[in-house]
Amino acid sequence: MIYMDNAATTKMTPAVIQAMLLCMEDIWYNPSSLYAPAQRAAEALRDARVRIAACLNASPDEIIFTSGGSEADNQAILSAARAGAQAGKRHIISTAIEHHAVLHTLEKLEREGYEVELLDVRSDGVISAEQVERAIREDTCLVTVMYANNEIGSIQPISKIGAVCREKGVTFHTDAVQAAGHLPIDVQAQSIGLLSLSAHKFHGPKGIGALYARNGIPMTRLIEGGDQEQGRRAGTENVPAIMAMAAALEEACSHMAENTQKVSALRNRLIMGLSQIPDVVLNGDPENRLPGNVNFSFEGIEGESLVLLLDQYGICASTGSACTAQSLSPSHVLLAIGRSHEAAAGALRLSLSEDNTQADVDEVLRIVPGLVRELRGKRVRNPFQRPL
Ligand SMILES: *Cc1c(COP(=O)(O)O)cnc(C)c1O
Repeated sequence: MIYMDNAATTKMTPAVIQAMLLCMEDIWYNPSSLYAPAQRAAEALRDARVRIAACLNASPDEIIFTSGGSEADNQAILSAARAGAQAGKRHIISTAIEHHAVLHTLEKLEREGYEVELLDVRSDGVISAEQVERAIREDTCLVTVMYANNEIGSIQPISKIGAVCREKGVTFHTDAVQAAGHLPIDVQAQSIGLLSLSAHKFHGPKGIGALYARNGIPMTRLIEGGDQEQGRRAGTENVPAIMAMAAALEEACSHMAENTQKVSALRNRLIMGLSQIPDVVLNGDPENRLPGNVNFSFEGIEGESLVLLLDQYGICASTGSACTAQSLSPSHVLLAIGRSHEAAAGALRLSLSEDNTQADVDEVLRIVPGLVRELRGKRVRNPFQRPL
């Protein structure tokens, strides 16, 4: 089996599984309880918070544990919006290529009377800090721009956007779910006010994530109940998953340079090889993209058909985001970078990790051209479809 869908989720590493198991066996107590064993769980929780904060250059009390990236995005955006409304500010700036956890939250706010402005990205999937600067108004309460895109891998100029927001006094949130553990993050140097991350995108467990919220930014609770997370998120903490997330983030960050080098070399080999197929186009920029992201549109075929055929060869890939894989509507990201509906429907995303090898890449390069020919051939034989 060749797994090339690491943008959808990643495999936990042995060290991460070990950290989680140890916690489940030894310190499974409720960290809010008073007796000594529970205090060891509370101590583990504090330790994980310190380590995760250190990876982001944040302070531990600025870390809120959530159920994942989606919850962190929801809480960040709703918090900034509620605080804005109290000051009479209801204008929000974002981009057309955000994850649905962001876009659907913004749609909800629009129905509540907020004004949401989605900036157009260039054909390489990037917005400029100048675009953000021009869009900021007196009544802007939030700028939310993803760090790196989950479909085409494009990386935004986060430091520059952060600097603009700091200068204008506007809260800046970034969905860093694809970036955390893969690209450098420093919330101080990058002037980030709110940041979302999710453990299962950097070899941690699913169902756990974090929201970094700079001290002084008021938080709205999504979950009411006890006063865990300093009253910002109720519910007994998932200590084993949190310990595993800390281990995964530390492991990813301490090997970031070597992983980036290895994975981007595989990515470039894959891009070079797939570019040889006639009538294909790379989605996103060849250089400014996540180390593991490859996304091509194949003219005249359906991405879904290609993914299903690849599965027969034991190759796990995707058409784009896992969230849109089940729906037939074309990717909003590919439409936003100017692709036609047909090109958007013919997309294949291969997302690599450091577990992949050159042999994996060569196997994919051996198989894909034939499958594309086969699918295109079927299309010509089908009298109801336009021949190529
Ligand atoms: C995966 C992902 C999310 C959602 O994270 P979950 O932990 O699965 O809820 C949000 N944003 C981006 C960019 C993602 O890739």
